[in-house]
Amino acid sequence: MYHDITPDDKFIKNEKVPGPTKEEIRTLTISKAQIHEEDVVVDIGCGTGGLTLEFAKRAKKVYSIDMNPEAIETTYENLKKHGLEKKVELIKEEGLKALENIENYTILMIGGSGHNLQNIIETGYLKLPITGKILITSIILETATETVYTLKQLGAKPEVVQLNVSRGTILDRGVMMKALNPITLITAKKL
Ligand code: SAH
Repeated sequence: MYHDITPDDKFIKNEKVPGPTKEEIRTLTISKAQIHEEDVVVDIGCGTGGLTLEFAKRAKKVYSIDMNPEAIETTYENLKKHGLEKKVELIKEEGLKALENIENYTILMIGGSGHNLQNIIETGYLKLPITGKILITSIILETATETVYTLKQLGAKPEVVQLNVSRGTILDRGVMMKALNPITLITAKKL
């Protein structure tokens, strides 16, 4: 099945909610996730719903979690706009707490974790089936290093990609490149 990646300007935004994850970052994240139509995805820290929307197009079911009620509302609006709301269960709760009540997922995405990163990774990874996948996007250096350390402790072999994307602005005198915030994407398969 073929699906496009939704452009950034097709999302409804709320200034109090981060995201959507930029199109180029979503593209690589989806590529690394290698989603099959039988997959069940958990998206912790769904924000605007940027990644949730991409998962919903491709997976059987998505659980999207955020502790900010406005994020849940914004994600719902975006799913509705794109006709994908039936694929997604929205959960307004802290990620670790919500995760404890979800079984049988095959892909775990962590896009926000606050101070609970290590616990979320440990709990989430242990509940994944063998060959299940975990993906973490990070805007903070410490999140990336803590993620790698935690995954190694769990016996996983994390892959780390730093994404430095610049977009061109067309000016009369040429193309001016403007950098987006660098993102570190960490992925691992459950061994
Ligand atoms: N991937 C999203 C953007 C994520 S922004 C998109 O594409 O739109 C990160 C989100 O994580 C924020 O909305 C924040 O409220 C949420 N978050 C941070 N820590 C959390 C936690 N421990 N539990 C649940 N949500 C959390």
